[in-house]
Amino acid sequence: MTLTVLNPATEEPIAELEQAGVEEADEAVARARAAYPAWRAVAPADRARLLRRLAGLVEEHAEELARIESENVGKPIAGARGEVGMVSQVFHFYAGAVDKHFGETIPAAGGAALTFREPLGVVGLIVPWNFPLNIASWKLAPALAVGNTAVLKPAELTPLSAMRLAELVLEAGIPEGVVNVLVGKGSVVGQRLVEHPDVAKIGFTGSTEVGRLVMKGAAETIKRVTLELGGKSANVIFEDADLERAAAAAPYAVFDNAGQDCCARSRVLVQKSVYDRFLDRFVDATRRVKVGDPADESTEMGPLISAEHREKVGSYVDGVSSAFRGEVPESAGFWFPCTIVEATNDYRVAREEVFGPVAAVIPFEDEADAIRIANDTPYGLSGSIWTRDGARALRVARAIDAGVLSVNANTSVRVQTPFGGFKQSGFGRELGMHALDGYSEVKSVFVSTEG
Ligand code: NDP
Repeated sequence: MTLTVLNPATEEPIAELEQAGVEEADEAVARARAAYPAWRAVAPADRARLLRRLAGLVEEHAEELARIESENVGKPIAGARGEVGMVSQVFHFYAGAVDKHFGETIPAAGGAALTFREPLGVVGLIVPWNFPLNIASWKLAPALAVGNTAVLKPAELTPLSAMRLAELVLEAGIPEGVVNVLVGKGSVVGQRLVEHPDVAKIGFTGSTEVGRLVMKGAAETIKRVTLELGGKSANVIFEDADLERAAAAAPYAVFDNAGQDCCARSRVLVQKSVYDRFLDRFVDATRRVKVGDPADESTEMGPLISAEHREKVGSYVDGVSSAFRGEVPESAGFWFPCTIVEATNDYRVAREEVFGPVAAVIPFEDEADAIRIANDTPYGLSGSIWTRDGARALRVARAIDAGVLSVNANTSVRVQTPFGGFKQSGFGRELGMHALDGYSEVKSVFVSTEG
């Protein structure tokens, strides 16, 4: 079966690919399994050197990779460049981490107790279409650093950057079979990886619905899973915040990547006393978001990923009156305008992950009310708190049930800090030293010192 890959900004085909099925998935797992003993035996300094070489090749090919990603996902080229920059940083970071993921020595009578961090074996990495190369690197780099081999399954809609990365992996000198890219349907090859007895772990990013299937499927073989799933994050604006800064930043916290971001602050919670002032400024700032051709250097927002996804996003605002609805190009492409809706937390648009450029603005009374509303969601991935009161910032940050929060900023992702969710946003942590724990087992060894 062939797969036609589209450019979402033009609806034109950009590639025709062979799709893998179950047989090819099994072959990829077998290649990864065969490559595992030699890869785990590579000396730490050599493994680090290979990962560093890959980081360097990603840097050298940064413009090419950014263009692939921009065309395939419809991402503005400036943003795609930033993402590729992060990919090389991720490989640099884990190259440096190879020999810094330590075991322990633990006091024990009659000898020494030691722990070792052992690789898992073959890991299955299933990634989505919204940040294809970035999310692939967050999984691949720590997995390889610890000594695992991998089968990477990109989303059907966006396989091109992962395919190019696989070529760079070989060019870096990483042996054949260590990284295997599998282009095929999630329900076929993804599911096969989840069920395959020789796959030790699934690192998954995607919808909560498929995350549930992954967890169920993994139960049969007691496979390890880490799940990075959906979100419905709150951007909480208190009356003592720098409203100008908060409002100027708010559009990018939800409309970046056309809202197709699990960390999108798609619920904007505003204290009633400053609600109107904030909303006016938020609308003004949103009006200035530049929507259009992703290849244009000044574009800030591109189209959605597919026609089907555009229909789903539209269903959240059909018949709902909006405080603002922006403009989009009239040409072909899966365009959807920046949309701001005034809501309460029980509106569908405030409860479900829209994954499009739609913000729900919700008023709150006081700090306790803000925390209650922020936590009134099955998700718990990310969020922001805007206030000039440092004690309140920390109080609220501790009280919100989410894995990644920022104060007076809207960033969620850094190479060196842990990233992941509470509640139905999943479990396990990516990035930072924490990610290494998810790709290794702790082994405890007791050595008797008795003569
Ligand atoms: P999915 O969860 O369907 O896809 C994520 C990945 O899982 C893809 O590689 C997909 O493959 C694969 N997959 C699909 N079905 C299975 C399965 N049964 N077993 C194993 N792997 C599978 O997300 P979508 O891309 O369809 O997006 C749907 C919604 O998910 C979005 O609207 C958004 O709400 C949410 N989402 C959240 C993301 C996040 O970062 N948290 C990222 C993407 C989506 P393939 O696509 O090839 O079929």
